[in-house]
Amino acid sequence: MTGWLVIAGLGPGSDALVTPEVTAALAQATDVVGYIPYVARIAPRDGLVAHPSDNRVEILRARQALDLAAAGGRVVVVSSGDPGVFAMAAAVFEALEDLPQYHRLDIRVLPGITAMLAAAARAGAPLGHDFCAINLSDNLKPFAVLERRLRLAAQADFAMAFYNPRSNSRPHQFARVLEILREECEPGRLIIFARAVSTPEESLATVTLAEATPEMADMRTVVLVGSSTTRLVAGHIYTPRSAR
Ligand code: SAH
Repeated sequence: MTGWLVIAGLGPGSDALVTPEVTAALAQATDVVGYIPYVARIAPRDGLVAHPSDNRVEILRARQALDLAAAGGRVVVVSSGDPGVFAMAAAVFEALEDLPQYHRLDIRVLPGITAMLAAAARAGAPLGHDFCAINLSDNLKPFAVLERRLRLAAQADFAMAFYNPRSNSRPHQFARVLEILREECEPGRLIIFARAVSTPEESLATVTLAEATPEMADMRTVVLVGSSTTRLVAGHIYTPRSAR
């Protein structure tokens, strides 16, 4: 087998936040595979075939990428942010579990800057102490599991990052998430709604839990919830490194 498969993160949007090793892999690639808007970020060139696909077909897309690499292609699967954070890297390994004939393929994961870190940097250092990341989409897990994790994380006083906070197909869920936070946290808890970070449409809003409304988030927003110690200094939001 002479082909290879790289699963690469393109970062949150800006070309300046794509790592040099991802750029180098793309320069060597014969095929680029991924969700339509992410493949659209790759400049077309001779010798590079684009294979854009729709959302929610991750396993089919992963198989397609494995097939192309096994046939000798130099294949880059692109994700936004980091490919290991609610994205394609795990989907490729999930597909690989069922395909023993591909177990000797050269497969590498190249990291990217994930949305929560790009957003946190814009705000200051809200994830400066212990934190967790939660995918609010219930495509792949029951809402009861999400609710339990959210409640326990709030009780443990983690700062939190929420990915996929809200979509048209499940508009009420994020309202329920805010309700649960109101049951577990004080009304003054700081929440950052960071939308389209590092793109021309970027916007950031910091509010208290009492002021937060479901409409403040959409699918291009990552939501950062502070811990009980998260605070403001000179317009920067930070979480002290010590819990004492
Ligand atoms: N692998 C990606 C996450 C994919 S899930 C990563 O590491 O960032 C898609 C979710 O990521 C979106 O619903 C949103 O919550 C978040 N997201 C991705 N890009 C973003 C950006 N530029 N600004 C804010 N949130 C973003």
